[in-house]
Amino acid sequence: MISRRFSTLFLTALLATAAVAQPAQPAPAAQQGPPSYTQILEGAQTQPGLLKVHLRAGHYLLEIPADMFGQNLLWHAELAAVPDGVASPGAQIASRVIRFERRGNVVDIRDLSAALDTRAAGSENDPPENDGMLPDHELDPADLAVSEASVPPILLSVEQIAQAPDGAALIDASRLFRGDVPDFSPQDELEEAFYPVAGIDPDRSYIERIVAHPNQVAANTVVTYRLQRTQPSAATVEIRHTLTALPAQPMHPRAFDPRVGYFPVTYLEAGSSREQGTVERTLITRYRLEKKDPSAALSEPVKPIVYYISPEVPVKWRSYMKQGIEDWNRAFEAAGFKNAIRAEDPPSTPDWNPADTRVSVIRWLAQPVENAMGPSIIDPRSGEILAAHVLIYEDVLKLAQSLYYLLASPNDPQARTLPLSDEKIGQMLRYIVSHEVGHTLGLRHNHRASQALSTEQLRDPASADRFGPVASIMSYGRINYVAQPGDGVKRLIAEIGPYDLFAIRWGYTPLDAATERATLERWLDEAGRDPLLAFGGEDDASVVDPTVLTENIGSDRIEAARLGLMNLERSLGALHGAVPNDRSGIELLRSTYTSALRLREGWLAAASKEIGGVVEHRTLRARETQFTRVPVARQREALRFVLSQLKASQTFLPATVLNTYAPIGASDEFVRSQRRLLMRLLSGQVYGQLSDAALLGENAWSLSDYLTELQSGLFEELGQPSVRIDPLRRDLQRLYLATLQDQLAAYNEPVPDSVVRRVQAQTGMSAAVIRLSLSSGQGTDLRAAVRVALGQLGPRLEQAVANSADSTTRAHLEDLRGVLAELPGQ
Ligand SMILES: [Zn+2]
Repeated sequence: MISRRFSTLFLTALLATAAVAQPAQPAPAAQQGPPSYTQILEGAQTQPGLLKVHLRAGHYLLEIPADMFGQNLLWHAELAAVPDGVASPGAQIASRVIRFERRGNVVDIRDLSAALDTRAAGSENDPPENDGMLPDHELDPADLAVSEASVPPILLSVEQIAQAPDGAALIDASRLFRGDVPDFSPQDELEEAFYPVAGIDPDRSYIERIVAHPNQVAANTVVTYRLQRTQPSAATVEIRHTLTALPAQPMHPRAFDPRVGYFPVTYLEAGSSREQGTVERTLITRYRLEKKDPSAALSEPVKPIVYYISPEVPVKWRSYMKQGIEDWNRAFEAAGFKNAIRAEDPPSTPDWNPADTRVSVIRWLAQPVENAMGPSIIDPRSGEILAAHVLIYEDVLKLAQSLYYLLASPNDPQARTLPLSDEKIGQMLRYIVSHEVGHTLGLRHNHRASQALSTEQLRDPASADRFGPVASIMSYGRINYVAQPGDGVKRLIAEIGPYDLFAIRWGYTPLDAATERATLERWLDEAGRDPLLAFGGEDDASVVDPTVLTENIGSDRIEAARLGLMNLERSLGALHGAVPNDRSGIELLRSTYTSALRLREGWLAAASKEIGGVVEHRTLRARETQFTRVPVARQREALRFVLSQLKASQTFLPATVLNTYAPIGASDEFVRSQRRLLMRLLSGQVYGQLSDAALLGENAWSLSDYLTELQSGLFEELGQPSVRIDPLRRDLQRLYLATLQDQLAAYNEPVPDSVVRRVQAQTGMSAAVIRLSLSSGQGTDLRAAVRVALGQLGPRLEQAVANSADSTTRAHLEDLRGVLAELPGQ
């Protein structure tokens, strides 16, 4: 291994080995200058390729042909193997367009995409930020040279070791790949996982191998970082670097439009005059598809999109994956392509590698992660997706299984025992693969599409057969949980839907450059009238838009949640009898119960998003309203619905389930979930939205009326002739007063860490959300609203003390009165 270490004194080492090769010769001539190209490569193993790769005396050398200087290459780096807790293998570190330039005896590597935004598409964990701007003029691929008007930064300068007779430059490969080029370092990923990096240890870092291909060079490296604390003292990461030739002719680009959910790629284009500087252009990312027969309405592509199913994917899942991939053909037909996409087994050649960034692959990772991702490799000049790697983590099937059992078993008699059959899990895998492949075709999440269908449509078998539960597979509305037993709905899992067909047609139909923009605009105009084709994703508006939701279906959030809870009650009620009577059954009880609470909380949170909610219409027409506020009556209905669920529940505290695995804190998960829901109603963000609406004078529910109504629901027991308050309600009532107290304290002061820690322990919410929630009431009428609400609570508490049915209730009420005395309004 020592011979393959990165050496900072590579040239010295090389000279030393050159000297060793000729020990008997004094060789005065060799000492007069550096060794020649021929001398250095004596005895080297050489691979031809995009760059020649030489291996000599354990050192890798790269040979850059003279005609490659000035050409654009894509330098991509991804994690190949990681320490515990760090991102995941296959995750992208960086992807940049670079260029080699020669300066005397030095090779500079320029980063042409430093100013570009080349986001990896489709990570579930790391959704891209807000969308870019709509380009404002016709795009011409001839303009696609990256700006010459600005100076691209030099990423790295490397000494040329020797020059070949044909002008090629020989450089030390370790200078590129030893891990110290900041832009290609996994340091951020390590630090996010709490590995504080102190530096690279060259003695424990080396190039594993470099392989040259005709249009690519791929280097696998092992880099060890010293850490700033003693345990562990180091972190070792395997990184795969690839240098790939970009297409000689950039693909014809399509301009990005925020009304269709494509991942954007932004580049800088030189202006028409020097004064104009550079102009930012935003394109969609997509594969290059060209018709074999351009005149045919439906044609096979010149080159289809091929996804290899990696050899490590278990045999029993491969056919479902193939279906999930090829399901997209239906959408490509809408764009004029027949057999546009297909799944294949990889060739059985020994050098086939699933990490090869020249091919698209579905990979299978046996890691305890309930997730899947679809990063892509993109030519930023045109948005062309060159290849994509879909990563499916084995444990995603566990999550899929519990979701299917909980949501579908009331309507699917074949799903009433756990574990589910391979056929059922396979159908969920088909859905998951379709969704992930959708990302790698360029599509981002469309969380509006899960709200496209009405309750009636979701419960009608004919409609359900036609559309499924959602208008897009790119939403998170995975399963129809609204349909009730007896409705007769059979198609329960989401499939490629009307929006997906529209999006692929919009993004992939080959169009005449002269009329492209007008045609795309016309299609969007037509689509604008159809709720099945609407798009809303992960951007600013989605934070407050109750029609953009994850894990929810149906245009009526409240009714969907009510019906969903009825199904959840059925499946959770049957859970104890549905699992095998052994240890594996206990684990199934635990994980399925946790999933059920998450679903319930998600539905109730979605209903509460109506409060202060703003619906976006996204027609992008200045004289049409883009945002409308939810009517007060609907906001009130949502508040009442959520309050009606903030109660103890035997369904969601099933003793038969909890008594199999929870000796301590059996009710904690449920109680925390209820607390989070209450905190959501008391969030500073809601206050801010209500205050905003009041200032605009539109659908304004005054903060004071809102808080008073919330309080009256939360303390409804006080009106009983004989007041009895159960432990959960006592907990929520205490939390209510404590939260108001914290928010008033945060009116003028930052939220103290001790308060954040206390709320974190109570609710499991993140510190950032707690701070925001407690402090963003600043600038609203909160103090006055609290005064009014608590002014009414005081006398009610006093009377309830007298009517207490038991001593615990009395003590609780006395306790609240004590807290109240410290708050305004008394
Ligand atoms: Zn996704």
